[in-house]
Amino acid sequence: MLQTTITCAKCGSSALRKNGSSGGKAKYQCTACRHQAVLLPTAPVRAARYEQVSKLLVERNSQRSIVRATGVARMTVAKLAKKSAAHLPGAPGADERTS
Ligand SMILES: [Zn+2]
Repeated sequence: MLQTTITCAKCGSSALRKNGSSGGKAKYQCTACRHQAVLLPTAPVRAARYEQVSKLLVERNSQRSIVRATGVARMTVAKLAKKSAAHLPGAPGADERTS
């Protein structure tokens, strides 16, 4: 679980309040400078989670245990396993199917 403190992108203040939503994501407004934005972009969060998945894949955990630990869908784990196996110098991915 990622725990992040949200700060204003303009002035760096952490005095924020929720101010509606955009595309299903909460918008925040800075009470100091009145700047408003969706201050939790999903791409870095997802990248951090995929990084964790690839670390678990290196440790030879099963795909289903990675799904239980991280909450990432199994097909996504399989895709990442295939992708990471392609970077290895040895055998090109036939041994990823652990389940
Ligand atoms: Zn601000």
